[in-house]
Amino acid sequence: MTTNEEAFDRARRVIPGGVNSPVRAYRSVGGAPRFLTSARGAYVTDVEGREYVDLVASWGPAILGHAHPEVVKAVQDAAGRGLSFGATTPAETELAELLIARLGGGTEAGGLVDEVRLVSTGTEATMTAIRLARGFTGRPLLIKFAGHYHGHSDGLLAEAGSGVATLALPASAGVPEPIAAQTLVLPYNDLDAVRTAFEAHPGDIAAVIVEAAAANMGVVAPLPGFNAGLTELAHEFGALVILDEVLTGFRVSAQGYWGLETSYTPDLVTFGKVIGGGMPLAALGGRREVMEHLAPVGPVYQAGTLSGNPLSVAAGLATLRLADGAVYDRLYHVSETLQREVSAALTAEGVAHTIQRAGNLFSVLFAEQPAVNYAQVQAQDAYRFGPFFHAMLEQGVALPPSVFEAWFVTAAHDDEAIERVVEALPMAARAAAQA
Ligand code: PMP
Repeated sequence: MTTNEEAFDRARRVIPGGVNSPVRAYRSVGGAPRFLTSARGAYVTDVEGREYVDLVASWGPAILGHAHPEVVKAVQDAAGRGLSFGATTPAETELAELLIARLGGGTEAGGLVDEVRLVSTGTEATMTAIRLARGFTGRPLLIKFAGHYHGHSDGLLAEAGSGVATLALPASAGVPEPIAAQTLVLPYNDLDAVRTAFEAHPGDIAAVIVEAAAANMGVVAPLPGFNAGLTELAHEFGALVILDEVLTGFRVSAQGYWGLETSYTPDLVTFGKVIGGGMPLAALGGRREVMEHLAPVGPVYQAGTLSGNPLSVAAGLATLRLADGAVYDRLYHVSETLQREVSAALTAEGVAHTIQRAGNLFSVLFAEQPAVNYAQVQAQDAYRFGPFFHAMLEQGVALPPSVFEAWFVTAAHDDEAIERVVEALPMAARAAAQA
């Protein structure tokens, strides 16, 4: 049998850091990342045959749990008909119609989007949305918020969350200064800062991009009225709002985080993760007037050999059709139970903490007071997370390997899976206390 250490040593010789995405490395918690060979329901299995209750859920897509039989069957059936055609398929239209219907049936009906373009990754979705916003407004600058992550395109890595936060990088090397200078990074949840930025750059800001609820610096919900106020401000200054629902979309509710608020209408919205059901698929959508600036109708170019891939679309359609009210009820039940139990275990050991939540997303902040922005998140006792993480892992619970990531539950987390997590918590809380 291959040991995990052997798998890691072998991988490190041929893959930088042994991982194909830095968030999979255990850089901030230490040790070798687990090499997985299979996943089913609420569980993942590593190369040594050890099974873990999984609270990563592929970083969000797996809301039904891993390898749901109906999703797997849909993908197998699609595969039998051909892996990729490089041509349009009826299923893409079906998925677009389903997304639009679930999001309120078009903007004239008070819904979120009129048209969507399918791409393969969240990075492409946000990158294209920004290009589209620039093409539509004819303006160069972009506002993003510190600690928000929107994928790894050049202009979006300044003070980004996710792996950029975990590795404590201020930005990425390799991004030319003139490109970085097109992005204004502001503190989250601070509308005054947004107004000041708009006033300082009159007529130059194309768009504001914002996570619908921040979940890549740990979870930091928008303050009540923040997303609506942001939209109002952007529109006052003639800029677009790009609501990034790649992580939150179709996870925190059937209509994403927007569905929990609905008091504003962003101009563009990006989706990913859940809409591909675990396969590479993402999308951007918006009102018709803006979306029709995309090629081939309009002058803003975007393309993809594997865009709208039939296997991905099949997985997405099957997942969204199965994600009914009972699924969302279960996600909330699992999330709220875990929030309560984690907090109780940490309290019992006297560990200062706050459960940060947005919908059914949550994370543990090792600080007494809640955080509303990246600076406050960075000021927590982050050193407590590594020992907590490893104590959970040793007891068969796989958490996201960074304090700057959300915990992801699935509807397949049954009472037994929850119990396994709960049983592991006292020892992990003790480890955090002794850190
Ligand atoms: N936006 C948000 C809010 C995300 O959480 C992510 C990925 N975690 C992305 C964009 C990028 O998506 P992808 O990793 O598919 O490129």
